[in-house]
Amino acid sequence: MASELKSKELFEQARQYAYEYIDGIHEMGVSPSEEHIKNLSHFDEVLPNQSTPAKEILQQLHTYGSPATMAQTGGRYFGFVNGGAIPASLGAKWLSDVWDQNGGLFYTSPINAKLEAICESWLKDIFNLPEETVAGFVSGTSMANLAALTAARYQLLKNLAWDINADGLNGAPAIRIIAHEQVHSSVKKTLVILGFGVNNIEWIASDDQGRLLLDQLPKLDNSCLLLLQSGNANTGAFDNVDKACDLANEAGAWVHIDGAFGLWAAASKSLSYLTKGMEKASSWAVDGHKTLNTPYDCGIVLCRYPDALITSLQATGEYLVYSEQRDPILYGPEMSKRSRAIEMWAAMKYLGKDGMDEMITTFHTRAKQLESGLRQLGFKMMNEVVFNQVLVACATDDATKKVVAYLQNSGEIWLGGTTWNGKAAIRVSICSWQTTEADIERTIAAFGKAKDVV
Ligand SMILES: *Cc1c(COP(=O)(O)O)cnc(C)c1O
Repeated sequence: MASELKSKELFEQARQYAYEYIDGIHEMGVSPSEEHIKNLSHFDEVLPNQSTPAKEILQQLHTYGSPATMAQTGGRYFGFVNGGAIPASLGAKWLSDVWDQNGGLFYTSPINAKLEAICESWLKDIFNLPEETVAGFVSGTSMANLAALTAARYQLLKNLAWDINADGLNGAPAIRIIAHEQVHSSVKKTLVILGFGVNNIEWIASDDQGRLLLDQLPKLDNSCLLLLQSGNANTGAFDNVDKACDLANEAGAWVHIDGAFGLWAAASKSLSYLTKGMEKASSWAVDGHKTLNTPYDCGIVLCRYPDALITSLQATGEYLVYSEQRDPILYGPEMSKRSRAIEMWAAMKYLGKDGMDEMITTFHTRAKQLESGLRQLGFKMMNEVVFNQVLVACATDDATKKVVAYLQNSGEIWLGGTTWNGKAAIRVSICSWQTTEADIERTIAAFGKAKDVV
């Protein structure tokens, strides 16, 4: 192993493969062909007894692995809400991968601890959050939701004179969970993990865009956890968090905003009206790997009650100060962890506030361009394109599903299907800095072809 490290040949080889991939990204099929998927069988083997040369390992990975990727870093991948990767951020990740830091403590990685502190302060600036807010850097919004709701559970039970760390859930006073029916599946999963159970949730109806119907909110009190959303994963719609936060704060309830991709609207001058009032919430979950275009994986939990976040996640009921500096381990559920703040810092510093505004506003511009093209082709719009999500359908569910299947196999673009208001729909998420006006033109053409074929 020492010789591999010394000669650097292995890393040169990896670098060459990576460059080949980067240079080919716009020509490769957006999704792998059937043959590329079939070729994955080259990995089917029993664990060998003997060592395999490192060179062969990378070669196998590039030969059969690279073609079996989704071209997510190209400009025509529109699946889920998956972002691209800003080169400066990817470069920072490359370098820091070589450092191989355990980002948990200041002692185990001073640079990661420092950059978490910087990112925390920059995020508070971008999102205009209260000074006391703290940030934890986790794998994504699912984990950020889990961390935030763990803090909420701790705090709400504390309001009711119950110490969950000491006394657990058996016999604990009831917390009321108020969520609208459109919360993301990761929020539902989190509620189940935390022992709330989906049948105990007071579900609130939403309008046809997936926005919480404010007038359906029950009377809130200090045992309530109110779950809001900035950016519906299908429509991109934003709850009226301004009014909802006021109601929650008056009652002493905890209000959490899942803003996985949508919270970033706050960084765009022309779109920030969508998140108006969000700074009044108790906690927020947001991704780096979606709208901000950091490489995977990167999510952030933000919480205005540091004591609730730290105490609920550290199990001890009190938290040790591991060093004089900020210890990342305190703000999330993980112990050993990736040093994600490094890529996040690089992405934010590269873009600056103006660049962030421009990138995010451009996602919206491209979404509007797509909307207009698809309308002209006769597709039915299923959402108001307020942010980066475009939701369309054909005349029948059957035709819609066929168009999705056709486009997914086309290699030209990739997107997902969903159901919206009981109807099959096609969802397009514009979330990569790589997506150009020309990519949208090609996308519209692909839809046109799909419509003719099915
Ligand atoms: C993507 C998404 C999540 C989950 O985030 P991950 O980063 O995939 O864990 C949660 N909520 C919303 C609204 C999302 O779009």
